[in-house]
Amino acid sequence: MLLARNFIESGEVILCAEHAAVAEMLKQGEYRIKAFVAADPQGNAVPPCGRCRELISQLSKENLEAVVEVENDMFVLLKDILPYDWKTNRGREWNGAIHAEIRTHSDY
Ligand SMILES: [Zn+2]
Repeated sequence: MLLARNFIESGEVILCAEHAAVAEMLKQGEYRIKAFVAADPQGNAVPPCGRCRELISQLSKENLEAVVEVENDMFVLLKDILPYDWKTNRGREWNGAIHAEIRTHSDY
């Protein structure tokens, strides 16, 4: 299970913890997420932002089945909070984009 805490000040998202967690996963060669939760500073579950939904969905098509706690004790699947996914039926390779981007950045 991936636990992530969002850092929010004055209502503005500074850094989503999901991105740091995903970076650590990719360094270990892992991309599958079974469940995750974002939390506000008080520790209450909040829905992940759109950017994080998209990032996690791009890691693996299987991540669309990840369980997400969107409110305390309320669980949904990632695919249910990522409607009209642009990746659906596009024939793309799900694991290729992010790995390719990491290689590009390491080349600099
Ligand atoms: Zn986010």
